[in-house]
Amino acid sequence: MIITVNGINANLRFSSAHFIPGHDSCGFIHGHSYFVDIEIEGDRSGEFDFVVDFKDIKSSVNEICNELDHKLIIPIFHEMISFKDFDENSISVENLEKRNSVSFKIGEKGYTIPTNDCKFLPLKYSSAEELSKYFTENLVEYLEKKYNNLNYVSVGVNEGIGQGAIFKKILRD
Ligand SMILES: [Zn+2]
Repeated sequence: MIITVNGINANLRFSSAHFIPGHDSCGFIHGHSYFVDIEIEGDRSGEFDFVVDFKDIKSSVNEICNELDHKLIIPIFHEMISFKDFDENSISVENLEKRNSVSFKIGEKGYTIPTNDCKFLPLKYSSAEELSKYFTENLVEYLEKKYNNLNYVSVGVNEGIGQGAIFKKILRD
């Protein structure tokens, strides 16, 4: 059986700024009102004959939404972003978060931003494609601790109404 959670109606949303380095129009810092849709297939099981308890899905996804909400999302492994004082060996989310502010360059453009205003992600891009994969992998990691009845987990990250990306992780055939 398939269960779904609709992000707009279930309030799985976040508003964040991001940029796609090198892109004509998306290379500038801009924002989206994102929402996250979920689809999970599995066998019904357990005390209540659920596929998954909706509470588990929503609390896990909401946690990620809250981490991203009202932040500038920075994908730290993008090859065009060079962080001051960090090289490829020292760059990590953890090390960046230790700073009060971070400075980075994208080509000729330089930025200095308080760390509290940012959410660093261990990704190459902050596109809907990468964010949907990030959400899916986090949700799967959380659900796999409690469930062994699931066939796939699929998460869609929408950049507002009308455009988004879906990443589907198959857990068993
Ligand atoms: Zn965008």
